[in-house]
Amino acid sequence: MCGIVGYIGNKQAYPILVNGLKRLEYRGYDSAGISLLDKDVKIFKKRGKVSDLEAHVAKEDLTGNIGIGHTRWATHGEPNDINANPHTSMNGNFVLIHNGIIENYSRLKEKLIDRGYKFYTETDTEVLANLIEYIYIKGNVSAEIAVRLALSKVVGAYGLAIICKDEPDKLIAARKGSPLVIGVGEGEYYIASDATPIVEHTKSVIYLNDDDVAILARDGLTLKTIKNDQLIPKVQKIDLDIGEIEKNGFDHFMLKEIFEQPRSILDTFRGRVSLDKNEIHLG
Ligand code: GLU
Repeated sequence: MCGIVGYIGNKQAYPILVNGLKRLEYRGYDSAGISLLDKDVKIFKKRGKVSDLEAHVAKEDLTGNIGIGHTRWATHGEPNDINANPHTSMNGNFVLIHNGIIENYSRLKEKLIDRGYKFYTETDTEVLANLIEYIYIKGNVSAEIAVRLALSKVVGAYGLAIICKDEPDKLIAARKGSPLVIGVGEGEYYIASDATPIVEHTKSVIYLNDDDVAILARDGLTLKTIKNDQLIPKVQKIDLDIGEIEKNGFDHFMLKEIFEQPRSILDTFRGRVSLDKNEIHLG
């Protein structure tokens, strides 16, 4: 279960994303990638460390006030440059990053192939990108509606940050099973899989619940459920500093790691084995 960072505001997104990804490195990962939205959508991704991604983009134009970044721990498809996040939908309308697994991805993929979709990666995430786009084009609906309808067809766990190329003034975030936090700034919002990348920018955060969808624009945030029930965002103040957050309330890193072992083991096996009625299935 790896890292997500997102930014929408008036600052340059790239340094925020890269520093945020470095804050999330402790979670373990095999590849890193970012997408920046400027006049067009730019995607850079690389197997290896965040520092390998930095070297890879050293000569690129990294301008953009909106962006998403990801560290991947592969569950579907080997760790390589192509399978790394972000993923783009076939016609290029959507770019997204995803933590977690889409359990019914192969059935969804077959249906999309029947409807003319081609796949370029081995991932479950690309299936979700194409499902959102299919609904967006076929239903002639907004990005937000396409995301909510697509997620209503998905079985699995996800933390998501989504860019729609035709709606370039917003980011969409959604969560089920994989944690996601929104940082609230002045005319800007942050997204992250935990608060560590956010606290150096703002202490005001909104923790998303399962089935929440957040639509973030520079001038405001809308929070609703997948079923379109409007929610009132609860902004909380974080009064811990970065060191305390990294230790997750424990006095020492060693204690934290001991108590995180059950979660770490679950994350390691996620997508590789599934537990069903006390039987173990190898993925
Ligand atoms: N299931 C996705 C993949 O294999 C995301 C894995 C993750 O949580 O990093 O690419």
